[in-house]
Amino acid sequence: MTRSYNFYAGPSTLPLEVLEEAQAGFCEYKNSGMSIMESSHRGKEYDAIHEEAIANYKELMGIPEGYSVLFLQGGASTQFAMIPMNLLGQDQTADYVNTGAWASKAVKEAKLFGNINVIADTEKSAPATIPAIDTLEYTNGAAYLHVTSNETISGAQWKQFPKCDAPLIADMSSDILSREVNVADFGMIYAGAQKNLGPAGCALVIIRDDLVEKVVRVNPTMFQYKTHASKNSLYNTPPSFTIYMMCLVTRWIKEIGKENLFAQNVRKAKKIYDVIDATDFFTGCADKACRSDMNVTFNLPTAELEAKFFEESVKLNTWGLKGHRSVGGLRASIYNAFPEEGVDKLVDFMKDFEKRS
Ligand code: PMP
Repeated sequence: MTRSYNFYAGPSTLPLEVLEEAQAGFCEYKNSGMSIMESSHRGKEYDAIHEEAIANYKELMGIPEGYSVLFLQGGASTQFAMIPMNLLGQDQTADYVNTGAWASKAVKEAKLFGNINVIADTEKSAPATIPAIDTLEYTNGAAYLHVTSNETISGAQWKQFPKCDAPLIADMSSDILSREVNVADFGMIYAGAQKNLGPAGCALVIIRDDLVEKVVRVNPTMFQYKTHASKNSLYNTPPSFTIYMMCLVTRWIKEIGKENLFAQNVRKAKKIYDVIDATDFFTGCADKACRSDMNVTFNLPTAELEAKFFEESVKLNTWGLKGHRSVGGLRASIYNAFPEEGVDKLVDFMKDFEKRS
């Protein structure tokens, strides 16, 4: 087996240990006579996994009492709609910070349901940036404030979160569990699983009980947080195999120690940014003050050189370094499970490429 270094932005690399463990139990899980994929979501084997995954998220993220941990379907994109459907009355206003492509998608959906006040807009800024929190002017009585903690495409990341009276809601799809966050500062955190948490197929939602209880309109049963919170995400069939894989990933994080993992994330990103900053050959796409530790975005002097860089990188068995199709350039997505030696290899390649160009 030759595993490549996988810089894809999501779905993205998973820990080899997790894949191997899943493989070992792929056809038969714990002498149950069947795969976990084939097991009833009401059976004892799956139930233990479901409960363990929730308990592990609570422990790893320090989720306090008074929050529900939910496994929902439809990806983070469905949350863009579910949030205003459940929390924003037609005549109410919600504040949004538009920091880029993902935040703007969240804004677009929310506008279907109520008044949206975009209190800061850096979507078109170059370099990509995050507004300073002391410049934000909140709407009085806003239903909530929505931010995108890490813009996966541009590579801009909030380093500090705003504090306001309204509940703070964060899309952490591309940096959840990659750094220490105080969950109690948030009304809700959500993330698609396919970057830091496991394979695609599930959105993790951490939501405060008072928000679960809020009713601002009549919504279809499956689109109410209350439906899922009151049934522990077992109102309908959950994506059980994805949740099983997510559970294995939480065990992997516990094994490594989250502090070690978080420190490694900072170190990995710094290694690449140090090469970017060393010369004028590379240009980082995000402001230094808010550079992402998860998605490192950069340009070369010309589009031709970028294409050549990418072609050569593929020959080195490193995949996914092309920037998002909407912005071009290059992007190294280095989530939790991306091995540090893969970063070292990229850094060597960058230096060598520059020398030869
Ligand atoms: N938010 C962010 C920050 C993302 O990066 C993505 C996916 N790349 C999404 C939302 C959408 O997630 P999904 O594909 O799970 O709907």
